[in-house]
Amino acid sequence: MSSNDCIFCKIIAGDAPAYKVFEDADVTAFLDIFPWAKGHTLVVPKNHWPNIFDIPDDDAAAVMRAVRKIAPALRDTLQADGLNLLQSNGSAAWQTVDHFHMHLIPRWAGDSLVPPGHSAPGDHEAIEATAKKLSQQLSD
Ligand code: AMP
Ligand code: ZN
Repeated sequence: MSSNDCIFCKIIAGDAPAYKVFEDADVTAFLDIFPWAKGHTLVVPKNHWPNIFDIPDDDAAAVMRAVRKIAPALRDTLQADGLNLLQSNGSAAWQTVDHFHMHLIPRWAGDSLVPPGHSAPGDHEAIEATAKKLSQQLSD
């Protein structure tokens, strides 16, 4: 399953250039060409699923299996101190390419990346109300 106007489908098919680093029957991994950090890698399922709301369990599992393989290789190759996984769904959440993908972003102590938000103590009544609603939805 692929989409004609999807850049990641073109990369998977070999119809667009990419710095591929890993491939198996279900996924392809390649370097991001607008990297947040050296070694910034994207892991994508070969099937075109727009986001986390659409991807089936087996392709999601295949992506995570590849992530588990690539993460230590990135760390060891680049002597990274850590690594962020980032996965965006919908333009409200910064998604720009509508083909499910997991970002692997190597990190070094003292590097220049900063968290996109800041945390503050939450309102426990609101947290509890959300927990009740969500757990209800999940048990239906
Ligand atoms: P997102 O904003 O989570 O949808 O991430 C999409 C990512 O794809 C961005 O980090 C882009 O830099 C990256 N990207 C877009 N086009 C290409 C391409 N042709 N090759 C590699 N990475 C790309
Ligand atoms: Zn696609």
